[in-house]
Formats: sequence, structure tokens, C-alpha cells
Amino acid sequence: MPGLAVIIVGEDPASQVYVRNKERACEECGIYSEKYALPEETTQEELLELIDTLNNKSSISGILVQLPVPKHIDEKTIIDAINPNKDVDAFHPVNVGKIMVGNYDFVPCTPAGVMELIKESGIDVSGKECVIVGRSNIVGKPQAMLLLHQNGTVTICHSKTKDLKEKTKNADILVAAVGIPNFIKGDMIKEGAVVIDVGINRLENKKLCGDVEFETAEKVAGAITPVPGGVGPMTIAMLMKNTVKAAIINKSK
Ligand code: NDP
Repeated sequence: MPGLAVIIVGEDPASQVYVRNKERACEECGIYSEKYALPEETTQEELLELIDTLNNKSSISGILVQLPVPKHIDEKTIIDAINPNKDVDAFHPVNVGKIMVGNYDFVPCTPAGVMELIKESGIDVSGKECVIVGRSNIVGKPQAMLLLHQNGTVTICHSKTKDLKEKTKNADILVAAVGIPNFIKGDMIKEGAVVIDVGINRLENKKLCGDVEFETAEKVAGAITPVPGGVGPMTIAMLMKNTVKAAIINKSK
């Protein structure tokens, strides 16, 4: 039976919401879950000890440490400590390398969710100009690899990219993962393009909004994802999928 351990350190409000949503999804899918809510002052050693315990616990097939962790804890050390076969976020270097060569078990949940949306919408990536704005390890870079594996022609943009609008205007498939509210405007989008908004930004009025200015973008786009309700729920669905996969992998070990 699949079992997911979710570890959260500290009181970050956005992280609390994400963890609650993940717990709820486990309940809905009938996946056993354990939540470890640790205080802000938890030491790196204590966190590593918990990960070690969970790595060796047979009822747990997947381990997820909600990021970011507090500043006194080294994120890389924590990710490296998770058994790659239980790394349902696919952040461990072993899993990152597997994605690079195209022979992978786990895919980071957000880029995997984007690919699922594309597939379910009947969009063929092959030969398409795919432009990703953002190059983080958890979204932009793995997203680029997944689109490349599907034979897209991929351009990755970032904060040092020159003439960004020229690049985004060329996209048949545009993925925005910038973390700036309403950053991509309608005039930066090619007529009929598929626009996928990964951004989750909380405005001062507490409302959520994406990285794409939906009102102007939807007038030009052929297809567009909303925020909230687009990539976010897909990310959680992919976490459930990875947890089931982890249970199968760990059973055969
Ligand atoms: P990061 O902050 O790690 O990365 C942001 C990227 O955007 C960087 O590569 C940065 O470039 C680039 N960028 C920043 N400013 C500009 C600019 N002016 N022009 C072009 N590129 C720019 O963010 P994440 O990848 O972690 O997240 C991105 C967004 O997606 C956030 O809103 C986050 O909340 C959301 N998110 C949503 C998830 C979901 O489940 N839907 C899951 C994960 C994230 P550089 O590298 O040069 O600094």
C-alpha cells in the first residue's frame, strides 16, 4: 500500500496550505499519509535523523520535505539524504540525472502536471516552439527536459534574457514560471499559442494570481490555464501518482 510522509519545518503560511492540500489529496485517494510538523528551531541533524527513519520505514513509500526549509538548514543536504526510490518530488540528484537522460521513474510534480495537461488537451509537442520563462531546478529546467523528450524545440528564458518579448512571441507553447504576478501580458503571446501558467502569487488583497495576465492573454491564446485551478491541482495529482509509483518500486526492492 502506498504511504506518503510529508515533513514541514516552521510556520510558513503558504507551505502550510500546500501541505494541507497534499494531506487532503491522500485522504481522497486512499493513500496512507503521515505528517511531521516540526518547529522552526529544528536542527539539520534532527531533520536528517527523521529522514533516515522514514527511509527505512516499510509503510512509507514516498518522502516529501516541503520547501523552503528554514535558513539554518541546508536544502541540498536534506534533498540528498532522501532515498532516491522514495523521492516523490524528484529533486534528488539521482532522479534529476535520470530525467536528463530520459530514463526516469519520478518526474517533479509541477512539470509532470504541465505535461499531463498538454497530453490530455490533445496537443502534440513534436516540432513546436516551446518557450519556458524561468529556469529553477524544480520547474523551469525539468520542464525544458520533458518538452525536449517530446521533441519540442525548447528555449529557456530567465532574468538575464534579452528581448524576452521576442522570444515569448515565438512560442507555440509558452510556460510561465517566473514568480511575478501578471508578468506575461497578452502582447507577449503569439496568436493561438498554448499558455501554461505555473505561477502562484498572493496579491496584497490576499487573492491568488498567476504569472500571466489572464484578461489580456486569453484574448490571444488558443488555450490557457487559469490560476488558481490550473497547474496547482495537477501538481498534487502528480504527487499522488509518484507516491503510487514509489510503492511499486519499493515493493520490488
Ligand atoms: P524561482 O524564483 O526559483 O525561479 C523564477 C525564475 O524566473 C528564475 O529562473 C528567474 O531568473 C526567472 N525570472 C525572474 N524575473 C524574471 C524576469 N524579469 N524575466 C525573465 N525571467 C525572470 O521560482 P519557481 O520556479 O520556484 O516558481 C515560479 C512560480 O511558480 C512561482 O510563482 C511559484 O509560486 C510557482 N510554483 C507553482 C507550483 C504549482 O504547484 N503550481 C509549484 C512550484 C512553483 P534567474 O534564474 O535569472 O533568477
